[in-house]
Amino acid sequence: MISTAPGIDIQRVERSRLQETDLEHLKFGRVFTDHMFVMDHTDGAWQRPRIMPYADLELSPATMVLHYAQTIFEGMKAYRNGDGGVSLFRPQANIARMNRSAKRMCMPHIPEDLFLQGLKELARLDANWLPDGPDAALYIRPFMYASDEYIGVKPSGDYRFMIFMCPVRGYYQEPLRVYLEMKYSRAFPGGTGEVKCGGNYAAGLYPTKLRQDQGYHQQVWTDAMEHKYIEESGTMNVFFIINGVLTTPSLDGTILPGITRDSILTLARERGLPVEERKVSVEEVVAGLHNGKVTAAFGAGTAATIAPIKVIGHDGTDHELPDLGADSEVNLIGKMLDDIRRGRVEDKHGWVVRVA
Ligand SMILES: *Cc1c(COP(=O)(O)O)cnc(C)c1O
Repeated sequence: MISTAPGIDIQRVERSRLQETDLEHLKFGRVFTDHMFVMDHTDGAWQRPRIMPYADLELSPATMVLHYAQTIFEGMKAYRNGDGGVSLFRPQANIARMNRSAKRMCMPHIPEDLFLQGLKELARLDANWLPDGPDAALYIRPFMYASDEYIGVKPSGDYRFMIFMCPVRGYYQEPLRVYLEMKYSRAFPGGTGEVKCGGNYAAGLYPTKLRQDQGYHQQVWTDAMEHKYIEESGTMNVFFIINGVLTTPSLDGTILPGITRDSILTLARERGLPVEERKVSVEEVVAGLHNGKVTAAFGAGTAATIAPIKVIGHDGTDHELPDLGADSEVNLIGKMLDDIRRGRVEDKHGWVVRVA
């Protein structure tokens, strides 16, 4: 069946896979909804935006992305509102970030309106895949890759942009054990740390595996030049409470500017909490763990929202952090964020975009 939204062709599945899907027991990122958005950039322009049944890709072995990793992505979520509707959270921020990633990776700009319309149409079409429950969401994965068949290092001529979605529940079950990484680096000045390009994640796999073999979930990355300043925790931004001040490393070109990070900072400032974005040294954090000045640490990102850190390993020693109490400011901010996303409180910032 072909129907048309302005500009986007929609071809629906003949039969939904939803009935045979167990939405109660979901593995994060393993289950995909019925439809996907596709659009190709050829001859210097975006062609044929369309929504079609989720399906495999057929690729030439010479497809450039498979060799030179010219690919970028985003991660965002659609949430169920109290009244049964569905909303996106700050999609314009993801769209803007994806276009910054595109620029850094020599890839074409995606028209904001078309991108947003694609997100809305897709989320609306597969809204019934959104599970019920407090942690449930549709995880949305927009991405773009170099689609030329060519062996040789240069920007691709053609690109494909796609969006697909996964029904998900909670991400991290347990508080995190992290290790301050003093050998390997995620990002370096002048590199690609501040954009969401595939290569960043491939480069982190080996050092992360080494830490996981030692019983940690992930490492806290430090700056590549001196391993002196803290940058991020795994694929999340990192926050500490130091002397009662909510503290996070300032964005300096090597840190991915998280939308969760920005939302937490905004809400914390509005609540009158002392907040600092600045350089945070390993030395300061380790000393603060010893003398009790560091009272909490957590990771922040779309997948987990707020992921409490329980153990920080450094130089062979594990430092334990107290549990965040349910009434701690951090958890109150996490709850406020969730209430805004799910339409339970007024959206004063214009963050929520209703799709259904
Ligand atoms: C995506 C990502 C984040 C978090 O960004 P959000 O917009 O909050 O989801 C943080 N660090 C890295 C390295 C990331 O890839």
